[in-house]
Amino acid sequence: MTERSSSAPRRVSIFGSTGSIGCNTLAVIEHLGGRDAFRICALSGKGNTDLLARQAIAFGAEIAVTADENRYTALKAALAGSSVEAAAGPAALIEAAERDADWCMAGIVGMAGLAPTLAAARRGADIALANKECLVSAGELFHREIETGGGRLLPVDSEHNAIHQVFEQDQRHSIERIILTASGGPFRALDAAKMASVTPDMAAAHPNWSMGIKISIDSASMFNKALEMIEAMHLFAMRPDQIEVVIHPQSVIHSMVGYSDGSVLAQLGAPDMRTAIGYSLTYPRRPALPVERLDFASLARLDFEAPDDERFPSLRLARRAMESGGLSGAVLNGAKEVALEAFIDGQIGFLEMADIVGTVMERLGTGGGAVSIEAVYEADRTARIIARELVAGRSARSIAT
Ligand code: NDP
Ligand code: MG
Repeated sequence: MTERSSSAPRRVSIFGSTGSIGCNTLAVIEHLGGRDAFRICALSGKGNTDLLARQAIAFGAEIAVTADENRYTALKAALAGSSVEAAAGPAALIEAAERDADWCMAGIVGMAGLAPTLAAARRGADIALANKECLVSAGELFHREIETGGGRLLPVDSEHNAIHQVFEQDQRHSIERIILTASGGPFRALDAAKMASVTPDMAAAHPNWSMGIKISIDSASMFNKALEMIEAMHLFAMRPDQIEVVIHPQSVIHSMVGYSDGSVLAQLGAPDMRTAIGYSLTYPRRPALPVERLDFASLARLDFEAPDDERFPSLRLARRAMESGGLSGAVLNGAKEVALEAFIDGQIGFLEMADIVGTVMERLGTGGGAVSIEAVYEADRTARIIARELVAGRSARSIAT
């Protein structure tokens, strides 16, 4: 990693700056001193080039990158008259990630976030990891790139950030289990028959958190928790049987770590991603943030219940992927991304998402052993092809009936 004097402003890049995580990250940066305290190296988005250009100009970014090559002209025009460089396309995204930022927010949604995040890790930036798909698909490889670069891996996903806050590294031998909390989403108490006919709008209405549409729908199907179980296993080097899930509808406890003396340490807070983002940006300091403070008397109670993996089979699929290891995380994620898009597009029903992912996992089998980046992309590509065939078959059947 490049040596910099401790008084120099931190150089930061935000991948996915136009999304929910990205906008919250810029809000935290603004609160912590904005351009006086930070130098913005790269910002990236995809479709929302107007917002990307406005952000880049307001924060004085060196470069703004849209992942969509066809939007280069629009981005260039929106940046006209500023000193911000414009670039477009997946290769430009990787080049931007290779610039010498001290800290990178991995806030792109989906597998598209893997390549730039790996590049930033390899180059030695601290990685603030919101994009869970990186660890789910390429856990081992990702750790290797972090080690090569020498930067730190700071989890932003609220559960993993909570665990990081209470995970005593020097006592890791006495850590027995990780307990991920899950709100249960909007369909926590809905019976399976009714779940079959829910719409994408109903699924996107998360009870506690305001997030991008894909992660919101993944929360409703509990595929988000499924990804987080795999993410936690890789992040904290746990065995599959050490990862537990408990439903906690209030989302006040963000997750917990259980120790061998019976103690359970938890991190609590208002459901506001700015806490986890600020923690990852300033670790190990804890500067003041303008988030709501918990008032326990008005909260009055915290509830817990066991997850139901009959109504939410995504949790069972996660267990299968964790136990098989190898490329099964990449397969689960690739199939899930296709099924999710098909549900959003109205091609399949809500419950069919898990059916499709399960079938793809069965057909492809699972692979243990060493994993290369080529193998990860191949597993992702094959899983997507099979998932698309299954989606097409189901849409054709529903048109015929
Ligand atoms: P959003 O959908 O709000 O934002 C996604 C960002 O990625 C946008 O900047 C978008 O650009 C960009 N993007 C979309 N597709 C591509 C692509 N193919 N290539 C490059 N960039 C792309 O998502 P969130 O902010 O909600 O989530 C981001 C990541 O963080 C996800 O992995 C999610 O699981 C994780 N996460 C999010 C949380 C949250 O509170 N939102 C909490 C915990 C984890 P544009 O909008 O310009 O098209
Ligand atoms: Mg989470």
